[in-house]
Parts: sequence; C-alpha cells; structure tokens
Amino acid sequence: MQVPLLDLKAQFRDIRREVMAAIEAVCDEQGFVLGPRVVELEKALAAYVGAKHAVGCASGSDALLLSLMALGVGPGDEVITVPFTFFATVSPITRLGAKPVFVDIRPDTFNLDPAQLDQAITPRTKAIIPVHLFGQCAEMETINQAAKRKGIMVIEDACQAIGAARNGARAGVLGDSGCFSFFPSKNLGGFGDGGLITTNDATLREALAMLRVHGSKVRYIHDEVGINSRLDALQAAILLVKLKHLDRWTEGRRRNATRYERLFAEAKLLERATLPQTEPGNYHVFNQYTIYAQKRDELKAYLKDKNVGTEIYYPVPMHLQTCFKDLGYRKGAFPVSERASETVLSLPIYAELADEQLAYVVDCIKEFYSRH
Ligand SMILES: *Cc1c(COP(=O)(O)O)cnc(C)c1O
Repeated sequence: MQVPLLDLKAQFRDIRREVMAAIEAVCDEQGFVLGPRVVELEKALAAYVGAKHAVGCASGSDALLLSLMALGVGPGDEVITVPFTFFATVSPITRLGAKPVFVDIRPDTFNLDPAQLDQAITPRTKAIIPVHLFGQCAEMETINQAAKRKGIMVIEDACQAIGAARNGARAGVLGDSGCFSFFPSKNLGGFGDGGLITTNDATLREALAMLRVHGSKVRYIHDEVGINSRLDALQAAILLVKLKHLDRWTEGRRRNATRYERLFAEAKLLERATLPQTEPGNYHVFNQYTIYAQKRDELKAYLKDKNVGTEIYYPVPMHLQTCFKDLGYRKGAFPVSERASETVLSLPIYAELADEQLAYVVDCIKEFYSRH
C-alpha cells in the first residue's frame, strides 16, 4: 500500500475535464495577467469568505508583504507574530525593515497564546499577525480586543485556513485583512503560485490594488514604490473551477480527521500520540493533520519505509533561524514552539484518501509503537 502525504493526481482525476476546459478558454482569449477572470475570482472569494473586497496577488507570501506595506510598516515598527509558523509569516516584516516580536503558541491549538500577548505590545507595535495554523482559527476576539485598545492592525495569516470559521465567521474577515495562498498544497491550490487578500476596508483595498502593480493607479504614473505581484488568468480560471469543490474536499478532510480519532482510540495509541484538538466555536479545515508523537523521528522513518508520507511542519521555530539571529532570541525563549518543533508530525489527510489507506497508516503506527 502507498499513502502519500498529499495526492494531487487523485484530485485532478476527478476534475480534469472542467479544469482543461477552463485552461483552453484562457488560451483562446490570450489574456494572461490580471483581467476579467482575476476580477471574477476576487468577487467569488470575497463572497465565499464574507468580505467586501478581495485583491489577488502572486503568492501568500506577497499577500502578507502587501498587507504590511499597505499599513505603512517600516523601520522602527514592531510586528507581533508566532515563532511556530511557515517562514513567510515573518520574512515580510524584516524585509520592510521592521522588527518581528514573537509570542509563544498554545500547545493544544498550535496558535498564538493570547495570554502572552499584552506583555509583547509596546508603543512601537504596528500590527499583529495571528496565524490560523493547520486550518484552525486563532483566538481572534481576544487578539482583536488587545489590538483595538492600542490602535494596532490585525493581519490574519489564513494561508492554511480557507473555509475555516470561528463562531460562524470565516477566516479572512476576523481581522483587518486576511492573507490566502493558492500554493498547490493548500486546501484551494492552483497550478503554480498565487495569493489573495480579503478586507472590508475600501481604502485598504485601494492601497493593495495599487501596490501590487508597482504602486500605480494610472499606467506609467507611480504614486508609491510598489511591487510586481499579480495573479494570472490561468490560475484564476483553475481556482474558479476548484472553488466549486472546496467545501466537499474540506468535508472529506474533516471526515478523515474523525476517522483518525476513532482508529487511534481503537488501537490504544492515545498515550503515544496526541491528536489535534479543535477549540469550541472553531470549524477546522485540516490543511494538515498534525499530531504530537513520541519518538517522532524514528516513527517518521518507520512510516517512510512503509510507504506512508509524513512531514514535519515545522522543524525549526522562527526565533532559532540563522537569518533571524540578530533578533537575539535564544533556545528556551519559546518553549511551547520549541517542543512542538521537536515532536510534531503531520499525517496524510487529503479528501481522496480511501478508508483502507487511513486504516493502514494507523496500523503502521501501532506496529511501530509495539516495537518501541
Ligand atoms: C503557505 C503559507 C504561506 C505562504 O504562501 P505562499 O503562497 O507559499 O507564498 C504563508 N504562511 C503560511 C502559514 C503558509 O502555510
């Protein structure tokens, strides 16, 4: 049996005709950058998320960069985020000359621990970037309250959380702007890079739309120094097709999560592995199914031998990355993030997984622990 961490070919088999028709239509039109299909996708995703506006761009990384640029973040400013995340949450902060200030995560949800937020806020704090890691929303009410008191903006890193919701509102409208990625492994993935920002603020929308095309509103007239970060028509056409299937795929991921819970319990593995916890009020979309596992590295190698794909998201927290060493953080500064990096393992969770594949994964894990 083979169980890859993600099988995009299985997904493509189901939607091949629709996707190929959409690609052919773009080829017939020969209009490739921004244009009507991107506008259509922006409208569809704004509606899906429940936001007034959406602005497409070249990647999730750029969605975060553009959001910070639009808020005028620069040298002398601080931006609060978590150390246990993908690199692109943090890199735009330093790229703009601002300083990342880290707050540790909660062990159960892997998301920013609001109890540690107040002590990180200073008069220089310009923005907070909570990450909805693995597909579950952070505690936005508490984060928003702390931000509002001090006039700080909140940018959601929702790159792993399209369709996730908290108390009935979807990721992307829970802060001042929401950043999404269409990297192929995300729950809504394109055939290449792509990203999008949602917001209810018309002024912010204007700024984002200008910054993504070299800071220009009228062609060849530049009010600001922006960047080239445009979404292309092929991606938009493919994403419009895939968006129609997103809720079904999300349900598939959630069904697999429930199956894992039952199988792990039946195999009496709950002493060896801690399964993902969903906070009450959260609708988890499981971009990753991430467990804490004893003897993690040996388990990962064992599963690889058994043709089960897994991954460590993320093996080195951001405060311990070489490129951020000038920030002066040491090992031990964020113990919950560090422990997560040492013990987490993400298992296959994609919608097309067959029951037998899921059962095989858990059988292999059981076999491993019976020997260790
Ligand atoms: C994928 C991801 C990004 C970056 O998205 P790209 O489209 O790959 O640039 C940012 N933050 C998180 C949490 C992500 O998972």
